[in-house]
Amino acid sequence: MSPKSSAQLPSLFTIATLGSHSALQILKGAKDEGFHTLAVVTPLNERLYASFAFVDEVIVIPKYSDFPKLEKELNKRKVILVPHGSFVAYLSMDEHKKMTTPYFGNKAVLDWEADRMRQRVWLTRAGLKMPRHFTKASEIDRPVIVKLYGALGGKGYLFVKNPEDFTARASHLVEQRYIMQEYVLGVPVYIHYFYSPLTGKLEIMSMDRRYESNVDSLGRIPLADQEGWDISPSYVVIGNQPISLRESLLAEAFNMGEAVVRVSRELCGERGLFGAFCLETIVTPDSEFFLMEISARIVAGTNLFIDGSPYSYLNYDEPMSTGRRIAREIRNALLSNSLDLVLDQSSRTTFSRSAAPNGDAVAVPGPGVPAN
Ligand code: ATP
Repeated sequence: MSPKSSAQLPSLFTIATLGSHSALQILKGAKDEGFHTLAVVTPLNERLYASFAFVDEVIVIPKYSDFPKLEKELNKRKVILVPHGSFVAYLSMDEHKKMTTPYFGNKAVLDWEADRMRQRVWLTRAGLKMPRHFTKASEIDRPVIVKLYGALGGKGYLFVKNPEDFTARASHLVEQRYIMQEYVLGVPVYIHYFYSPLTGKLEIMSMDRRYESNVDSLGRIPLADQEGWDISPSYVVIGNQPISLRESLLAEAFNMGEAVVRVSRELCGERGLFGAFCLETIVTPDSEFFLMEISARIVAGTNLFIDGSPYSYLNYDEPMSTGRRIAREIRNALLSNSLDLVLDQSSRTTFSRSAAPNGDAVAVPGPGVPAN
């Protein structure tokens, strides 16, 4: 049966995600855009997710790494998966890529995102500044941060002042994979973007700065009192705080996002990066952005803005979280018969992709224009 009106269309489709990270935001956004919603959860999380009215359905699996076993069942329905950080954390890259459930985003970007050296090629080719990289302890000529591979949320990172300090405190790391970067003194600013493959437009959705323990607390103890006390800064993320950028820096933030999308098309196949992504920067006293990292999907810092941010308010006269923006893109893709443009190529849809009412595609509205 074909839907009677475009307003009814999304309700025929289910937006699903793993119950963690930014799932509440994603599913609330999906509900606001009219979709049926599904949370795949572990027993511990079942009651929490089921308690929200915007979660229509929960499927319980013993542990998140069992998610690929659901593939057959999900593929029987009109499900579209919206990935977040836990997809990368709990599923191996291979499993993640092999799944054929319709998936919002481009999995080809994952290979570039997962490897810090490839990220460096991507970001520097986009003309963005990155902290200097050191390969040997003997080369260290300024304070550096030693970052372990696979560390989550800054855990285990070390601040090292010079080669001697490295030998004393970090030489035990030789067994592990790590990188050494120039320590950039400044404010960490995480910029959340959304790039629409339907309109070719980039939007700044929101921004946050992280609150990290103990580095953000050292200023609470006067320097004189720190002397003689063996304190080492650590970078464990405890939470996120909203931040708005000086407006004079905004144009550069926007240009950086556009450059990253443009270069992704040269490196990660012609479709490149689309959907939500985040540039993780440090802004110095000279107002220079140094890039620490790129996350090629919705990041947890967007959870501060479930009700929208000052930036999303400029584009939309309604609350627009990144999660809702993703659902709106899927909805616009359905209405304009362009679902292929927003799904990874591994997506095996068992449903018709020509889902627009009466088969007539509608024009895709840009930012600031309601979808219907
Ligand atoms: P996540 O995966 O959650 O984004 P991560 O483990 O990849 O975190 P990073 O985002 O690279 O870690 O860094 C964590 C924190 O370490 C940053 O928020 C920042 O405070 C600090 N940091 C990282 N790189 C640098 C740098 N080059 N100079 C100064 N501080 C840095």
